[in-house]
Parts: sequence; C-alpha cells; structure tokens
Amino acid sequence: MDFDTISAISTPMGEGAIAIVRLSGDEAVQIADRIFKSPSNKKLVEQPSHTIHYGHLVETKTGEVVEEVMVSLMRGPKTFTREDVVEINCHGGIVSVNRVLQLVLTNGARLAEPGEFTKRAFLNGRIDLSQAEAVMDLIRAKSDRAMNVALGQMEGKLSKLISSLRQALLETLAQVEVNIDYPEYDDVEEMTQSTIIEKGQWVKSEIERLLQTSSQGKILREGLSTVIIGRPNVGKSSLLNSLVHENKAIVTDIAGTTRDIIEEYVNVRGVPLRLVDTAGIRETEDIVERIGVERSRQVLKEADLILLLLNYSEELSPEDERLFEAIEGMDTIVVINKTDLPNKLNMERVRELSAGKKLVTTSLLKEEGVDSLEEAIAELFFEGSIESADLTYVSNARHIALLHQAKNSIEDAIEAAESGVPIDMVQIDVTRTWEILGEIIGDTVQESLINQLFSQFCLGK
Ligand code: GDP
Ligand code: ZN
Repeated sequence: MDFDTISAISTPMGEGAIAIVRLSGDEAVQIADRIFKSPSNKKLVEQPSHTIHYGHLVETKTGEVVEEVMVSLMRGPKTFTREDVVEINCHGGIVSVNRVLQLVLTNGARLAEPGEFTKRAFLNGRIDLSQAEAVMDLIRAKSDRAMNVALGQMEGKLSKLISSLRQALLETLAQVEVNIDYPEYDDVEEMTQSTIIEKGQWVKSEIERLLQTSSQGKILREGLSTVIIGRPNVGKSSLLNSLVHENKAIVTDIAGTTRDIIEEYVNVRGVPLRLVDTAGIRETEDIVERIGVERSRQVLKEADLILLLLNYSEELSPEDERLFEAIEGMDTIVVINKTDLPNKLNMERVRELSAGKKLVTTSLLKEEGVDSLEEAIAELFFEGSIESADLTYVSNARHIALLHQAKNSIEDAIEAAESGVPIDMVQIDVTRTWEILGEIIGDTVQESLINQLFSQFCLGK
C-alpha cells in the first residue's frame, strides 16, 4: 500500500523528561534527514535500520538549532506500522515538543489523525482489528492485570478463539453443502442436523463463556468505582488511608482527558478500585441526611461497590438504618469497625439488616481485619475463582455487543435445526453467526466502521 508520511507526538502531553515525535511513511527517513544535523555530519538516509543517532534539529532555512535530540531509525516492515518509522526523542515540555512537530510538518509530513498509526498497522496487515482495539485498551489500562488482558488480546488470544469458532461454523456449513448436493440420502440430512446442533451448542457455550468474562473485563479496564459510606467518625478516612497505603496506588491521571473528577486507583488483589473523589461521594459524612434516601440511592447507584461502615462500640442509630435502606440491592460489604472497643452494636440486628451481604470486622486503629476486607472484595467480584491472567477477557463494548448478536444468531440456528426447518434456512443463521464473529476480528467490517474505531484512539498512537 502507498501512504503519505504522518507524524504526531506519541508521548502524553505535559511534563516528562523526554517526549517522542513519531513519523511513519515512505518519506519518514528523508524528512528527518532534512532537519537533522549530527556532530560528524552523517546522513540519516545512509544509516542502517534500527539504529539510534545523536544530534540536533535545525531550521532548514536559517540553520538555527531547534533541539538536541536522539533519533531512532527503523525501516519497514519490522516496525509497528510496517512502514519506515522515525522516532525523535526530544526534551519533554509542550513548547519544545511542539517546535519539533512543527519542524517536521513544515518539511513534508502531515499531522496524523487520532489513531492513524495503529490504523496503518491494521491496514498494512500487521495486526487485526481486535488487536488494534487492544492497543487502545492498553493505553488506558489501569492495573497490571488489565495490562495483561490487553496484552493477551494484542497477542491475538481473542482472535485465536474467535477464529476457531468460525472454523467450526465453516465446517458445519461444508456439511450443509454436502447435504444440499445429495438430498436423496435421508441419513445425510439427519447427520447435518445433528452436526449443526452439536457444533452450534459448542459455539454457543464458548460465546457464553466469553460473555461471562465481560463484566470482569470492564472492571479490570475501568476500575471498580467504590464508595465508602458511614456515619461521622466511624472510620471512613481511616479505611481509605489503609486501602491507599497498603496497596500501591496505580494511576492518578488519565492522559488526554479533562475531567472534574479526580480518581484514585488502588490495586486490591488484582481488582483495581477506583475511589471516586467527587465532593460528598468518596467520603460521605451524612449523605442520606443531607440529600434524602431517594437521591442518595441515585448517587450510590453509580458505584460498583459500596463499603458500609458501622461502629462496633456504638448502638445502631437511625442513620445506620437509613444507610442500609439506601444501599438495598447493591454490591455492598458491611464493615464493622472499632472492634478493639467494648461492644455496643446489636450484632443480631446487623446480621438481619445485612442479609445476603458480606460482613467483615476490622479495627483500623490496630490495623486488623483489612486483609479479610480485601479478600471479601476480591471474592465478591471474582467469586474467589479468578485464575491469573490466563483467561481471555472481553472488555470492549463493541466486542460484547457482537458476541451477544452472535449468540442470538447461533441460537436461532440450533432451534431451527432442532425443529426440522429446511437445512438451507438453517444455513442462513449459521452464515450470519460466522459473519458477526468475523466483525470482531475485522474480517467482514466495512470501511466506515474502521474509520470510526480508529478515530477513538489517542493522537500519536
Ligand atoms: P470518619 O469520620 O468516618 O472519616 O472517621 P475517621 O477515619 O476520621 O476516624 C474517626 C476517629 O476514629 C479517629 O480518631 C480514628 O483514629 C478513630 N478510629 C478509626 N478506626 C478505629 C478503630 O478501629 N478503633 C478505634 N478505637 N478508633 C478508630
Ligand atoms: Zn473522615
């Protein structure tokens, strides 16, 4: 394929010791050569591939030195885009990195659209669509585990599985063809039906398995939004602190997004918790009192996980009861704190109120019980059965939607086969399932979809 040379800043904007301006395309090396001056006057175009060069960038007209740089030279096809790629490492900081970009653009490169590098990798056949989307997830990955999922997908885990499902469907379709070619044999018809049912069931169960991982996948990618509630003085700040201090905070800023909400991520046994720090949500002194049960239900509903704190050394108050009301039906862990003090809390009543919810006891003062709380959090979302990063997680909304469609369509096929509908009708459903699954890996997608997808990428990726 023939592409012009594109360029963009491919490190996050803002501070940072170094920044990278990346070029990709037929002219990448020539453009860099035009503005690069090494101490020994070597020409970049004469240098071997996959080498790094020290020098300065200069204005072509005036000879003015713009930046001190390290230039990496990588000729296609062994590059991310499969094209010639040049990466200019310069000092971080918005001003200098923008000057480098400007210089590159005035010397023949075009500003890349968001996601265009990844799009080229896709169009040049280096990666398939689900891998391209995984790159996007990778950029946003919020925990080590989410990173592994994204990496696994990038390596084609999901693609491989989807391909095997499509292969099974193709074999089924081949069987149908045999049947259509030899309609006079009754047992062929029967065989075809049982093949469709059998393979269809397998495909369906694999899709269901994938879908089951999807909610976990979303959590892994986006973090579990977590709200700590309880009466004043019960220990909310103490709990927050011990969660943050015992677990390494992961990411404090999402590059490229402007948000009012500051989010803090902590990794609890592989579950990224997003402690949402909006006024009155992360630490609500008296949310119910202040805004009423209905309204606080609304606020709390947006949380994935609620940690409700009670005081072991005080009697249950009407406010505690209201909090229980407000969190009805939500994933909640009831934390009974201050167990180092004499008991006044009616435990029987608490058990009644927390019917079906997990209950843990802590003394945050003595740093006791935080372990069991963490275990409860992990259990709640992985049902204690999460197995390292070996599962294939589906965490992408588009994939999930397509998997649902594929599931419906294979169910139609199974049902039709079971009720003896003419085989060429069943064939339509099987073919459709095959097509839908193909869309996940980009085999049957239209151009417009591709453009839409890649425009979601960060600039420079
Ligand atoms: P918040 O108002 O709910 O945020 O509660 P804080 O976390 O600020 O704690 C209120 C007070 O209770 C502080 O003086 C804490 O040191 C104390 N505290 C927190 N947890 C415990 C505990 O487990 N036992 C005891 N005895 N005191 C605690
Ligand atoms: Zn507090």
